[in-house]
Amino acid sequence: MRIEEIIKAFKPYKVVEGNYKIWLDKNESPFDLPEEIKDEIFEEVKKIPLNRYPHITADPLRERIAEFLGFEKENIIVGNGSDELISYLLKLFEGEHIVISSPTFGMYNFYAKLEGIKLVDVPLDENFKLQNVEDYAEKAKAIFICSPNNPTGNTQEREKIISVLETGAPVILDEAYIEFAKGSNVDLVNEYENLVILRTFSKAFGLAGIRVGYAVASEEIIDYLLRIKSPFSLNALSMKIAELMLDHYDVIKQNINYIIKERDRIYKEFKDYVYPSEANFLLMKLNAYEFLLEKGIVVRNLSGRLSNHIRVTIGKREENNELIKALNEFLGVK
Ligand code: PMP
Repeated sequence: MRIEEIIKAFKPYKVVEGNYKIWLDKNESPFDLPEEIKDEIFEEVKKIPLNRYPHITADPLRERIAEFLGFEKENIIVGNGSDELISYLLKLFEGEHIVISSPTFGMYNFYAKLEGIKLVDVPLDENFKLQNVEDYAEKAKAIFICSPNNPTGNTQEREKIISVLETGAPVILDEAYIEFAKGSNVDLVNEYENLVILRTFSKAFGLAGIRVGYAVASEEIIDYLLRIKSPFSLNALSMKIAELMLDHYDVIKQNINYIIKERDRIYKEFKDYVYPSEANFLLMKLNAYEFLLEKGIVVRNLSGRLSNHIRVTIGKREENNELIKALNEFLGVK
């Protein structure tokens, strides 16, 4: 891709900066690690020899994730965020196009554009459910399913996911928000060789700053991915931190329960304007971006089919209280 094409196809990243009080725009966890766990982590991190390269295939972390999920190390690959893994997945499979269902996570489109791959969009229906993506499976390099979906928050039915898998096309099932949902489909990896599950430490685990994501798939697919992955893209510190956090899943689980409770509280408050969600955010039919910003609350402003909608990450109770107050003011309820 030449520079003129890049300028036309890609905009510079938009950085929202400012002295805002409450940040509910990136689907991050509102919880940093408790002080005592941070101390424990730093003690461990101190022992890492920084003059050495990290493990080339991140095996200690792969083993730990595999144990956590009930898979083998050979079924796991870790990346510098799950974003990195999307780019490798697009290089792996034969085919002429990828299939996405908008509105959905923007990075599928981003990497397809970067690789010059044709994008077929089979939009979600009015309830944000998948439509006839199976009809576009032939010659598909990959079919992306995001469940729970960003930015709508809903999940897709297991039967529908199986129906897409039955086409035999490679299916990338993005479960970045799965810890906030009722159930995962990761077990289907045992049955379907064409399934890749994407997961991340950035959301429920509260580790967006360290950039660790992973994929679960058949040994064969993982082997291919490891062959093309940049050798040392994941640094030794991040690997160690992710590993240690898996030993503290009890803390993470508490945070997940807190977020789910808060999500349901906000949902009930604005029922007429909010879509049901199984993620750590809510999609709201409210054109309140600027209004909230003036109150010091940053949320995600959406466009296209979802213009006049906002996506709001669930924060801490006090933050959510301020959000509720501001939105009631916006609606003139008081
Ligand atoms: N998938 C979805 C659906 C996401 O919303 C995000 C983050 N916004 C990611 C993947 C990427 O996560 P990571 O931080 O692991 O790159």
